[in-house]
Amino acid sequence: MRILLIEDDPMIGKAVRNGLVESGFAVDWVTDGRAAELALTAGVYDLAILDLGLPRRDGMDILVALRSMGNSMPVLIASARDTVRDRIDGLQAGADDYVLKPFDLEELIARVRALLRRHVGSGLPTLQCGKLVLDPVRKTVTRAGVPVDLSAREFAILEALMQRPGAVLSRSRLEESVYGWGQEVGSNSIEVHLHHLRRKLGAGTIKNVRGVGYRVTDD
Ligand code: CA
Repeated sequence: MRILLIEDDPMIGKAVRNGLVESGFAVDWVTDGRAAELALTAGVYDLAILDLGLPRRDGMDILVALRSMGNSMPVLIASARDTVRDRIDGLQAGADDYVLKPFDLEELIARVRALLRRHVGSGLPTLQCGKLVLDPVRKTVTRAGVPVDLSAREFAILEALMQRPGAVLSRSRLEESVYGWGQEVGSNSIEVHLHHLRRKLGAGTIKNVRGVGYRVTDD
């Protein structure tokens, strides 16, 4: 899952980015409003964490513009603007959640996960596809009840596939789910991770749709 972090405070931004990366998310971090707008038009994100007081363009303007373009991705406002009016305005402008600074990092990440779950249409904390069960919070995968040990990247790829069972995800879409900006992506690294996943989960679990991408199956 790829998250756009829009935050101009270097300390907060760094802490949130590191916390999200440790939790297995790919994170792109921008520090002003214009860069945020550019990233939102160019990139594919599963969720944005939005500060409101930003250089060059206010966070509320970014949110209003995003929603007026018909973009429905989850947006979590993380702001020091603490009046009830601010929170109501943020939610009415289309934010999905509003967290006050200073916030607890663990709580922020829990809220991110809850928003992502709701957005993919499942309020359930675990993802299931046939005998495969993935728990995004506990970072566990079981197949027919048997625990499977995966690396962080293997887990992120499987999570992206299991968010949309049956859907075919392109290799570049999988790369976007796993790698943030500035992270080196080897030319065949997704294939290498998929190879390991198939070995651990069974060859039939992840199907290659030639020329299109990959999907998870329940047989
Ligand atoms: Ca700020």
